[in-house]
Amino acid sequence: MPKPAVMRQMPQIAHVDVNCFYASAERAFDPSLEGRPLIVLSNNDGCAVTRSPEAKALGIKTGDPWFKLAPRAKEWGLVAKSSNYELYGDISARVMELLGRHSAWLEVYSIDEAFLGVKGDAEQLLDLGRRIKETVRRHVGVPVCVGIAPTKTLAKLCNKWAKNNPAFGGVCHWDSVSAAVRESLLARLSVEEIWGIAGRLTRRLNVLGIFTVLDLVNADPVVIRDKFSVVMMRTVLELRGTPCIPMEEERIGRDQLIFSRSFSTPVATVEGLRQVLSIYGQQASARLSKHGLQAKVLTAFAATSPFRHHEQAYPSVCVSLPMPTADPLLLTKAAHALLPQVRDGLQYAKAGLMLTDLRPTANQPPLEPFENRHEERGIGPLLEDVSRRFGRGSIGLGHAGIRTGLDWTMKRGMQSPRYTTHWDELPLVKAA
Ligand SMILES: [Mg+2]
Repeated sequence: MPKPAVMRQMPQIAHVDVNCFYASAERAFDPSLEGRPLIVLSNNDGCAVTRSPEAKALGIKTGDPWFKLAPRAKEWGLVAKSSNYELYGDISARVMELLGRHSAWLEVYSIDEAFLGVKGDAEQLLDLGRRIKETVRRHVGVPVCVGIAPTKTLAKLCNKWAKNNPAFGGVCHWDSVSAAVRESLLARLSVEEIWGIAGRLTRRLNVLGIFTVLDLVNADPVVIRDKFSVVMMRTVLELRGTPCIPMEEERIGRDQLIFSRSFSTPVATVEGLRQVLSIYGQQASARLSKHGLQAKVLTAFAATSPFRHHEQAYPSVCVSLPMPTADPLLLTKAAHALLPQVRDGLQYAKAGLMLTDLRPTANQPPLEPFENRHEERGIGPLLEDVSRRFGRGSIGLGHAGIRTGLDWTMKRGMQSPRYTTHWDELPLVKAA
């Protein structure tokens, strides 16, 4: 007699994404910004890089230059903020730390997005999604949406639904949505809304009569492979529920570089982790150089494995570098700022670095020999200290100061305080 089929719970993927991250990070510390049109500007207060829904409703586009918006800002009630990567990096580290408590399988995908491996039945998964949303809101103060599905592409899609359809309450689980509703939502979504499908591919798909996501789901994967690529076939299979995109541990995006690894055997000493961070620092430096970039903010993190029955810890630290750099020594030194939070005896299962506030390397080679010599004499920290106390632009270091002094001269007239990383910029609470 055949045995009854055992219902095995397949692992699923949760995609967590902070809503309008930079704008939400600003609002977390300044509730007066809530409900107002808000944009965050690129370096030098150039153009809008993040828009709150209210700003989107005004018709403001990503990339709109500030000088064009400024004359109408007052009339619109529009608030603009200079980008504050140190604040965003720190908020990001706190969000990721909280997410790490929910799964050992955590892939930090970008400064405000992560994939988590999760398990459970429909009710448990929805419950987990709501718990994640609630915890991040309560402990960090930023809103997130959660999409849960059998594949990464579907999890991202569910997250989009969770964001755009208030009925989901910010958490959407693929298997909990009825087939009829799924189909009607898929039929309303254009293919360009899918992860990894950009404008050029959209036009080529349209030529084949594929306009909506539903059209793509129903397309023949083999035909898609022949006409496009294996990557596109992978997307079709993922949309049909077959996981094809593995966990990635290294990624360089428009505004960040992420570098993280799970260890094959746990690292249980401060010395061991120092070594790991040194290697990552050098590898991250090589990545930056390869792409002609320098970073101004570094976040280092580590995590114990929640699968093991011992004490758990998720230390993280956000460091503002004295100047934009791809220098391995400076990056490694910054990454080592995590070490005071690391404890001998705990079993660390992974660690990583995230570099943000990326800028293209100056055309002329930077005077690194000079920087490093100054570093050794402790002049770097002294400069940081002076400029922290007397404001950016109060001090520069000879030619190097002029050469790498971009940040000192950078226009940041509307930057909010670095609430979480500088003692003298802590938010103040006034008791009535
Ligand atoms: Mg986001």
